[in-house]
Amino acid sequence: MSATPSRSYYLWNIGCQMNKADAWRLADALHQRGYRQIRAPDQAELMILNTCVVRQSAEDKVLGRLLSLKPYASEKGRDLLVMGCFVDDPQALRERYPFVAGFFAPSDLDGVLRHVDRRGNAQPSNTAESFSGRVAEMVPLSYGCDHHCTYCLVQLRRGAQRSRSIAEIRADCADLVARGAREITLLGQNVDAYGQDLPDATDLADVLEAVHEIPELVRIRFLTSHPRDLSLRLIETAARLPKVCESWELPVQSGDDLVLKRMGRGYTAEHYRELVEAIRTAMPQAAINTDMIVGFPGETLEQYERSLAMVRDLRFNAVHIAPYSERPGTAATVWEDDISSVEKELRYSEMDQLQTAIATERSAAFVDQEVEVLAETRQKGRWRGRTRGNQIVFFESREHCLGKLVRLRITWAGPWSMVGEFAGLIDSPSSAP
Ligand code: SAM
Repeated sequence: MSATPSRSYYLWNIGCQMNKADAWRLADALHQRGYRQIRAPDQAELMILNTCVVRQSAEDKVLGRLLSLKPYASEKGRDLLVMGCFVDDPQALRERYPFVAGFFAPSDLDGVLRHVDRRGNAQPSNTAESFSGRVAEMVPLSYGCDHHCTYCLVQLRRGAQRSRSIAEIRADCADLVARGAREITLLGQNVDAYGQDLPDATDLADVLEAVHEIPELVRIRFLTSHPRDLSLRLIETAARLPKVCESWELPVQSGDDLVLKRMGRGYTAEHYRELVEAIRTAMPQAAINTDMIVGFPGETLEQYERSLAMVRDLRFNAVHIAPYSERPGTAATVWEDDISSVEKELRYSEMDQLQTAIATERSAAFVDQEVEVLAETRQKGRWRGRTRGNQIVFFESREHCLGKLVRLRITWAGPWSMVGEFAGLIDSPSSAP
């Protein structure tokens, strides 16, 4: 049996931005209780897995990790806790994996912390040391989702949409800004449907207005949008508020109307193209990212080529491409998963190559241009930050840049990141790219 330092934890996280935000909150809460994060699970008193099952490949990784921790989880004084979308039926999971001390629903941080507190080993630490002081933070707007995309397990695992009140969201943002955050990303499975479950008919535009008022906050982002719910009012509000970055995550999933209908997405390819046009008219610098699924059941070559044509025409900044993965319990399982894995892979790589070429061209246009970057971290002697359009930029400067807006002249640009030359600190944000 290996030594187990008291109040240490190992946290493994996989999946969407919401999971990442949950992992950060959990880490903060554990540090407040005197726990310290370590990399070696065999040394940790608490082992926590925050899981994703959106595709079979993610579920396989979760299972691999879970089983690899079994020998340590069975040792006295150590607890393995599992949270996230892997957790559908806790009772059945307890029977299948008796070495796991607790299963918790997605985002059930309170449940995990109650378990930790019951173990009674916590010791409050100096709050000032408890938070990592992230410059770019994330705050959930809502949990769950009310759409029923036929391929998606998220709705089944995360449940119906529960929007938080604007007062609660604003308070969380103000608190993080008071601790050093300068950028906040507002998160939800479908941020454009925010408030539809609240009695007072507030929407995301109202949240943006409220958060925008926080002094010292310099940037706001939000994700993920849904083409069925994205309103012109939101586009207009985002374009008008200077702190809101010109950056959109607007998954389309397919460029073919029949496939979209069978996916249960609730819009046409034409409507999607109109939304992109509306965003680009209101925000000429807008960076738009999308998600595409290739090889959906029954997707013909012609239908796939409509997706490819959309990628070619709309010239997205990034496309997250996923080969269709059949998920037990979803409506799409009534159709045979009939596109072979070889064909899915061919469609995936063709689209990926096209998008890499587009991203390379888009990035190249930045060379010799000045951009505004928020410095978020320091890595291997260089600062790392992002533009308003979400491109990663590395730069050198002897100034203390953390949490500051800087002007950089881009000297090198690849498809996924750029390098810039420091050209000075910025007092107040602009709407530069
Ligand atoms: N809420 C967002 C939306 O409206 O689509 C994102 C949800 S999901 C966590 C992130 C991405 O995973 C989706 O946009 C989709 O492209 C992909 N995805 C979800 N289910 C999938 C499946 N069964 N097979 C392949 N990709 C899938």
